[in-house]
Amino acid sequence: MEQLITQGIVLRAIDCGERDKIITIYTPEKGRVTAILKGVRKLTAKMKFASQPFCFAQFRLVGRQEMMTVAGASEIESFFDITQSYAKMVCGSAILEMTDHISVLGEPNYILFDALKQTLRLLANSDIEPDLILMRYALGVFKISGYAMELKTCAVCGKPLNQDMTAFDLETGDFNCYKCPVPRYLHISARSLEIMQKLSKTEIEKLEDIVLMENEAREFRQLIRANFEIHFGVNLKSLNTAFN
Ligand SMILES: [Zn+2]
Repeated sequence: MEQLITQGIVLRAIDCGERDKIITIYTPEKGRVTAILKGVRKLTAKMKFASQPFCFAQFRLVGRQEMMTVAGASEIESFFDITQSYAKMVCGSAILEMTDHISVLGEPNYILFDALKQTLRLLANSDIEPDLILMRYALGVFKISGYAMELKTCAVCGKPLNQDMTAFDLETGDFNCYKCPVPRYLHISARSLEIMQKLSKTEIEKLEDIVLMENEAREFRQLIRANFEIHFGVNLKSLNTAFN
């Protein structure tokens, strides 16, 4: 029987049988790991905290890699405040969902783990707009997956994207200027584009003063959802219902 002692962040949890839960944990050393938390649905269960998404803990896991058993867990830091606001919760859930889809079972990724940890910490503890934090993480996710977004020049004519009208091509995931129309696109406002350009090169802590308008937050979410679908073929459920 193998034993793995590791830090990890719970990405999701599903019920299993009457009393157990199966959790998906993101770890630096082994990437995505699934493990069963036995008896955790009993009211008095000691490791209940570890069955919640956003839990950041030190885990002791035993068994085979395909399905390990949680033998122990102690919380390292609480990101619980994410669940106390609707906007934080939507953005936080999208962050976990993206991580779940791009992470590989058993494969280490210290950069992604650190990015996830820092991002959730900011979301839980800062006053920065949740959608800015989400967009910043998404830009990083696309970049490390080999799909970095080109935010400066039109993919067709190569001219700078600073006009009033920029279109996000829903077939290719590229940005085009208004002079180079495409059949299916998402309109991106000048300010949304400008904020994204800033996000890709500035420390996020310096962006505390940016206030997002509702339409900009909506554009961000639509853009992330569309680009994720284009490149990974996955419809992000957490961003699905956010526009009603
Ligand atoms: Zn163009």
